[in-house]
Amino acid sequence: GQVTVGELAKLMHKQASEIIKFLFLLGNMATINTVLDDENIELVGMEFGIEVHKENIVEEFNFEEMEEDEDPSKLESRPPVVTIMGHVDHGKTTLLDTIRKTKVTEGEFGGITQHIGAYQVEVNGRKVTFLDTPGHEAFTAMRARGAKVTDVTIIVVAADDGVMPQTKEAVDHAKAAGVPIIVAVNKMDKEGANPERVMSEMSELGCMPEEWGGDTIFVPVSAKTGEGVEDLLENVLVVAEVADLRANPHKNAVGTVIEAKLDKGRGSVATLLIEAGTLHASDAIVVGTAFGRVRKMTDDMGKEIKVAGPSTPVEIIGLNSVPIAGDVFKAFDSEKKARQIAEARLNVRVEEERNASSAMSLEDLARQIEEGDIQSINTIVKADVQGSAEAVKASLEKIEVKGVRVNVIRSTAGAITESDVMLASASHALIIGFNVRPNAAVRKKAEDEGVDIRLHNIIYKAIEEMESAMKGMLAPVY
Ligand code: GDP
Repeated sequence: GQVTVGELAKLMHKQASEIIKFLFLLGNMATINTVLDDENIELVGMEFGIEVHKENIVEEFNFEEMEEDEDPSKLESRPPVVTIMGHVDHGKTTLLDTIRKTKVTEGEFGGITQHIGAYQVEVNGRKVTFLDTPGHEAFTAMRARGAKVTDVTIIVVAADDGVMPQTKEAVDHAKAAGVPIIVAVNKMDKEGANPERVMSEMSELGCMPEEWGGDTIFVPVSAKTGEGVEDLLENVLVVAEVADLRANPHKNAVGTVIEAKLDKGRGSVATLLIEAGTLHASDAIVVGTAFGRVRKMTDDMGKEIKVAGPSTPVEIIGLNSVPIAGDVFKAFDSEKKARQIAEARLNVRVEEERNASSAMSLEDLARQIEEGDIQSINTIVKADVQGSAEAVKASLEKIEVKGVRVNVIRSTAGAITESDVMLASASHALIIGFNVRPNAAVRKKAEDEGVDIRLHNIIYKAIEEMESAMKGMLAPVY
């Protein structure tokens, strides 16, 4: 973890210029982006009468990047986390459903299983966690954010179809991530199932079966009938055992966001996968720039729980905004500390975006375009679900009027918040709300900051309005 002058200034509630001046007097030339070493961090802390240990600042501000030295005696065995990948229609979803159905004792809660993005089953008295968003898109998206959540990958190959393009991609992704592969040779119940062909085609991709002298386990299964699924799960345990997966459960929880959404009644709802430590209902956590106290924690069966240890997926409510899948969360000893860290991060982000921005209000767009004042229109998209946010973003970014384009600087699921308004104000951006609306406080803030908020519930209307504005044909609003 590293801290720049700008970040340190925010953390200490000081002006960056004060720190730069102090460093200058010590003979060090620094800018807002200069990364400080531990000694300088301490010197700055002493100067301003704030005790800033390297641990305090760096670890807490950039906790995602911390590799903690764990005392080996505190490490305990933890369940493996498994992802299922493979070509479309080869049976990923069916396999995930079958595993869950055969392994979860329903009834206790009326047989209602919750889809929270991950679930846990028991195999021979040992737990296994499955991420239930199949396909490598989710896997890749998480990896792109630096999350390493998967311990074992099951690659599903339909025995009647063989290796296909997405099978190859799945193998590439698993290998790039260094995650061990188990091949589920699926649809064995079908006529024309040819497991030998799957084995030879997978060998060409570098997955040589054990039977042929390689080190990849192949398990014939039928996701449809359940045949072979138990065997597959036992092999997952074998691979997990070799990997000797351990974590320290005796500390504040850290982990990854698996899914997150805005729920009309409950607010920000997030599925967290705990990687290490133990999460307690009522813990204060930080994720990205979101923070809050866990108000309610439930497991994948919808049952309320009070504590959750490593490799457990839980759904929580209580965050003040909707985090992004793949983001790392961490629990802190106090809500105050969590709030400080989240606020410092928000400040730094606003500062960064401010430096990288150039743009306006929808009404005088056309004039600015005409005068050649702008090259891009910064926009923040907020929608009720991530899918809509992405769709609006994609459509907006396709618009081009006289060489001017729309630049979406944030597109997330969730209500329009003060943080959005702050970011918009700093980056001269406008906000487009899709199926969401700001509350009174946020509206007031937007007015104060001169931020334009446009609300829509039909995508093409949002696009049309933007296009009209850019062409100078916006109907005046009275
Ligand atoms: P995904 O796209 O990889 O998630 O594939 P699905 O799980 O949606 O399965 C695609 C189709 O294959 C569906 O019609 C399933 O019912 C069918 N299917 C999946 N597994 C099996 C199997 O083991 N045997 C047979 N006969 N059909 C299967």
